[in-house]
Amino acid sequence: MSIRLFDAPLREPSQFVGFAGNVIDRQSENRADDSVEMALADPAVRLLLMHGGRLYLKLRDGGFDPWFGAEESQPLQVSLDHGVLLGFSDSGPVLAVPAGLDPEQLPESIKAIDYRSVYMQGLIDEAAAGAMAQGAALLAWHASHRFCSKCGTEAEMRAGGYKRLCPACAAEHFPRTDPVAIMLTATREKCLLGRGRHFAPGMYSAL
Ligand SMILES: [Zn+2]
Repeated sequence: MSIRLFDAPLREPSQFVGFAGNVIDRQSENRADDSVEMALADPAVRLLLMHGGRLYLKLRDGGFDPWFGAEESQPLQVSLDHGVLLGFSDSGPVLAVPAGLDPEQLPESIKAIDYRSVYMQGLIDEAAAGAMAQGAALLAWHASHRFCSKCGTEAEMRAGGYKRLCPACAAEHFPRTDPVAIMLTATREKCLLGRGRHFAPGMYSAL
């Protein structure tokens, strides 16, 4: 079904988009190099554990709980050094962390379920699904961008996982994992367009 822009329902439209329920405050502008260590030292820290495209879920009260404490995640062979600080929720800091324990060896009370099934079957709430998408994208980026693309030296994670820094040539590398919005500011008669200095004559774009 298609709807015209001006006939769109008044409800907040992003709720209809998958993984849009993420409520984590990334605090990108306030991240120190030790932000992962600081977050892990907070007793309220919560971890999403991931392994090979699957999310670890605790069976609880007939449902699934994706949140692990730092201590209870230790037996699952987590790599805290490779954890990414997703940001801060009302309950405290949130990290996505690779877990080493093979899914076949998990205790009965924990299941490893692929991201798509977790989302499609609605196993976790919208906020957790959004955090899962953010964490999965970042961990995948780090796994595939381990080495500096300028000089080939192994780069190091910085800013809680939102940057990699090459120790040899000081190049900085950033994940392109954030969603982008293109918007058109419009009334019924007019719309606001922009143009860059490099645009060809007569060329304009939405914002
Ligand atoms: Zn380099």
